[in-house]
Amino acid sequence: MYEGCGDEVCMARVLFDGVVQGVGFRPFIYRAAVDHGLAGYVRNLGAKGVEVVVEGSGDEIRSFINTVEEGPPLSEVRELKVEWGSPRGFEGFSISGSSEDGSGSGVVPPDTAICSDCLMDIHGEGRFSGYWATSCVNCGPRFCVLRKMPYDRENTSMSSFELCSDCKDDYNDPGDRRYHAQTIACAECGPSHYRVPGCSEEPIKSVAEDI
Ligand SMILES: [Zn+2]
Ligand SMILES: [Zn+2]
Repeated sequence: MYEGCGDEVCMARVLFDGVVQGVGFRPFIYRAAVDHGLAGYVRNLGAKGVEVVVEGSGDEIRSFINTVEEGPPLSEVRELKVEWGSPRGFEGFSISGSSEDGSGSGVVPPDTAICSDCLMDIHGEGRFSGYWATSCVNCGPRFCVLRKMPYDRENTSMSSFELCSDCKDDYNDPGDRRYHAQTIACAECGPSHYRVPGCSEEPIKSVAEDI
């Protein structure tokens, strides 16, 4: 399986199709590529899926593909294509901006119930404490906030909420589970809710009392 290169340094372009956007695919690929010491990039391809380009020894690349071929937990890889080629001399591995090519079928990611880690954040002490719109790369809204593919924050209804510096740090930290989480938000920078009329400070509580 995945022939095409021996021990020498070579390049592979791996194309994933299916439910592969909005499910933490790019951070997942990033971590696996770094673990395998591979250079290259990962990016969303418009509505066509995810493109991964990796450079390294053929053995490392094959091992990498074996690790990632099923994708992260929320994904559903329906098709995987591998093309081998000559190395281009990438340095390090990065998450690139999405391609603007909007053609292709694409699969819009579904909304996913809040995960146990985010529940712990809501019940904990940090800046997500009590914050209703807490989400991460493993949970939260996708379909209901998405205006168009590719699944990037600027294509969602979260685009008008500029990240605070803490959320920006999490978004850019490969060790954080909100690394490249497009719906990241906290009480400081994310959406708030209010009750009309009355504009109570505690809308959910006041509605609950009315009920
Ligand atoms: Zn979560
Ligand atoms: Zn924030």
